Amino acid sequence: MPSTKGSEKIKKTPQLLRGMKDIMPEDQQWWDFIRMRVDNVARAYGFGRLDTPLLEDAALFTRSVGKETDIVEKEMYTFEDKNGSLVSLRPEGTAGVVRAYIEHGMLNRPQPVKMYYLGQFFRYDRPQAGRYRQFYQFGFEVVGEQNPVIDAQVMMLAFNFYAEINLPVTLQVNSVGCGECHDEYRKVLVDYYRSRKNSLCEDCKRRLQKNPLRLLDCKQEDCQVLAQDAPQTVDHLCEECNEHFVKVLEHLDELEIPYVLNSRLVRGLDYYTRTVFEIWPEPYDPPKIEEPEETDDKKDRHKKSGNKKEEEIEISVEPTPIEEPKNKMPSQNALGGGGRYDDLVETMGGQPTPAIGFSGGIERLITELRLRNLPIGDIEKPEVFVAQLGDSARKKALKLFEDLRQAGFKVAESFSKDGLKPQMELADKIGVKFAVIIGQKEIMDGTILIRDMESGIQETVDFKKVIPEVQKRLEKYGVKAKVIDPRKTVI
Ligand code: AMP
Repeated sequence: MPSTKGSEKIKKTPQLLRGMKDIMPEDQQWWDFIRMRVDNVARAYGFGRLDTPLLEDAALFTRSVGKETDIVEKEMYTFEDKNGSLVSLRPEGTAGVVRAYIEHGMLNRPQPVKMYYLGQFFRYDRPQAGRYRQFYQFGFEVVGEQNPVIDAQVMMLAFNFYAEINLPVTLQVNSVGCGECHDEYRKVLVDYYRSRKNSLCEDCKRRLQKNPLRLLDCKQEDCQVLAQDAPQTVDHLCEECNEHFVKVLEHLDELEIPYVLNSRLVRGLDYYTRTVFEIWPEPYDPPKIEEPEETDDKKDRHKKSGNKKEEEIEISVEPTPIEEPKNKMPSQNALGGGGRYDDLVETMGGQPTPAIGFSGGIERLITELRLRNLPIGDIEKPEVFVAQLGDSARKKALKLFEDLRQAGFKVAESFSKDGLKPQMELADKIGVKFAVIIGQKEIMDGTILIRDMESGIQETVDFKKVIPEVQKRLEKYGVKAKVIDPRKTVI
């Protein structure tokens, strides 16, 4: 007889893996909004979309991100496939973009090649607020240009991306120099830390031997205190790197982009050279709600109702963001970051090709937007409902639905419903501004009814003019005019 323990195990309902999450239908609007903004920015700045696979040769990341980095050492999902090849789920986007650049001979295209991406990434990290094991990033990469003006342009793009959705952010900038500067800086840094070794965390003691730059962005408190007084990368740049950085800052000044010079910013990946930057959200200060003076009578009522007031002003946010003191490196809540990676293409086997990129996390961005109640607009909310009564009206409505959709309206319908009442109830629930209604009488007269859902007023209009008539009415509600192909008339 099989043991009950075994069968219980089999029956256990599978659950989400730790650090993973479902994106529910009601939350999709946030994701749609960000996808739309990313696409818009990409189009405006001339970036073409590149989709690389989620699974790549593990060596791609060990060679690019770096063997001694946290990402490769501790966080990569790496396994052998059925063929015995060592493969990894991508932990970041730049390595795949560079592989594709080399593999598709993009060096032969007009330079620089500007590409962007948006999708899932995987890091086996300790799950906590703002940190998942599967998360989404979008990123912009400019490959094949070393002029510092491009550094400033990519930072401007990143900064404006957030500013234009009304999220207050700061741009943190530093330069880590080239390989030559690294060698010189590494020596000075190791000297500084050697006498302070006992105060370092175990990870940093190890990093001191292998990758001392990493000590600067360690999240342990004692290490952060030491990092405050550590030698700064910018004081150890070679002449060319220094000149490059000065020009980058001049361009930023010219563009009037506010930035903070952050000497401890080194980023967690090995491939960065010269300019590095991050976008940090400004600490959120919830608006103070002015309470009117309470009359004795009101005070009494609050007491009786168990004082619901506090509940009412609570803002529900998910997940809870981490509070960081202003003078510290925010350990988990940078919204995004990037920098130059001038040696990476060559390291990966291509021709020497300078490049720069930026990537932003989507989960953290959504948390910030929700926390601040920032409007994202009803980008998918239907504006018009097509209602019909009777078989021949349904046929006409089916075609009208397509015509309205092609004219650029967001349209809803319920062709399977027969009565007008359930259709109007649904239109109301969806929250459309107008319903267009067609029945037997309208077919005979060549007309259609347009019903204002708020006032309930119905007007009869010529069926052929339904599109401009709907457009005219929607404009009154501030819905922008659609570009309508004049050849498309409803028949
Ligand atoms: P990085 O590639 O580490 O520079 O990350 C760029 C951005 O991606 C970060 O600023 C975060 O917004 C986001 N990000 C990185 N790791 C995670 C994670 N484990 N969970 C959620 N978002 C992440």
